[in-house]
Amino acid sequence: MTADDTAATGRRPAAPADLSTQAVLEVDLDAVVANYRLLAAKVGDRTVCAPAVKADAYGLGMALVAPALFAAGARLFFVAHLAEGLALRALLPEAEIAVLNGLVGPEVADIHAAGLTPVLNDMGAIALWRAEGHGRPAFVHIDTGMNRLGLDPDAAKALIERPDLLDGIALRGWMSHMACADTPGHPLNVQQLSLFHLLLRNLPQAPGSLANSSSIFLGAPYHFEIARPGCALYGINPTPAAANPMRAAVRLLAPVLQVRTVSHAGTVGYGATARVEPGQRLATISIGYADGFLRCLGNGVSLALDGRPVPVVGRVSMDLVTVDVSDLPEGSVVPGASRVEVLGETVTVDTLAAAAGTIGYEILTALGSRFRRDYHSSEFPECASSRRSAAPS
Ligand SMILES: *Cc1c(COP(=O)(O)O)cnc(C)c1O
Repeated sequence: MTADDTAATGRRPAAPADLSTQAVLEVDLDAVVANYRLLAAKVGDRTVCAPAVKADAYGLGMALVAPALFAAGARLFFVAHLAEGLALRALLPEAEIAVLNGLVGPEVADIHAAGLTPVLNDMGAIALWRAEGHGRPAFVHIDTGMNRLGLDPDAAKALIERPDLLDGIALRGWMSHMACADTPGHPLNVQQLSLFHLLLRNLPQAPGSLANSSSIFLGAPYHFEIARPGCALYGINPTPAAANPMRAAVRLLAPVLQVRTVSHAGTVGYGATARVEPGQRLATISIGYADGFLRCLGNGVSLALDGRPVPVVGRVSMDLVTVDVSDLPEGSVVPGASRVEVLGETVTVDTLAAAAGTIGYEILTALGSRFRRDYHSSEFPECASSRRSAAPS
């Protein structure tokens, strides 16, 4: 394996100004906004559609995604961490921001200073907010079947008997979270729903919030007053058993660094896990597991070039992946000019997730920091931007 076609021709095409050896992550803010509107229409006027923008808006970049959603009408947002809430407050002075991971104590001052709304997950947090919340709003999270976060149902029943334990708290809402909403027939769905209904009927009056993205598609009984979609906004299929109703919101394009025609039978990459034969054409692209292209995707998934499948050959390296471009017309794959679609309309986030044995959430939140990020919006051009990553590549 010797021939480097680039070296052989001795010339390197002039790269357009926007091309480099850095991969480009294109975020389609119009798609995020369209997804938001689809979900808001699905839950209807009586339910507030409150985006989950935790984990940097699932890896897409909260700094640009959240203002676009605000411009589209979203007023209530959910984050996981206090630090995310503080960052979001700096972006959106007027939004209502709820912090899911709760209240332990030392962060009360920050919560007040930034005007955040804590989600109270246990009786200790409830007592703390009674004492130090100055009558400001808070959600209370009740665990109805995940056994993960929130008051267990017995504590919720204690509140039914002693509603005075909530005195002095402006109750913004009761929330709970669904464990199996992406599996419509799962028996836990109706169990959680009926328990939540039962509790809401007996607890002090406040808006209810149960639905994540998938729950929105389980139907109106799951919607209550506030829905909290995340993944569907970002293009992940909330209905895995059916066609994806959402628009793809990200494209990740990795430039071709080198093209070679194999001259001798051999192997590709670390561990010599893939055999190649003379005449086979390989392209090496600028992406790797350090960018969130998971190492388990080696020797498996097909990426796309000019809409044609280009299978990954050999292991995924930290900064590089090799694909087989033998099926593309000779000369059509050009280092510095050709870019392989790693994520997008052809290689969807759910396709990549299935190939990696994971879920779209992990694919998006694993996206690295070495990309140039281009944010497009035709409707809210003030939200668009192009930025090189801070991290050197
Ligand atoms: C992340 C999260 C959401 C959003 O869930 P998706 O499945 O991404 O729509 C909603 N509620 C809670 C409590 C969450 O942690």
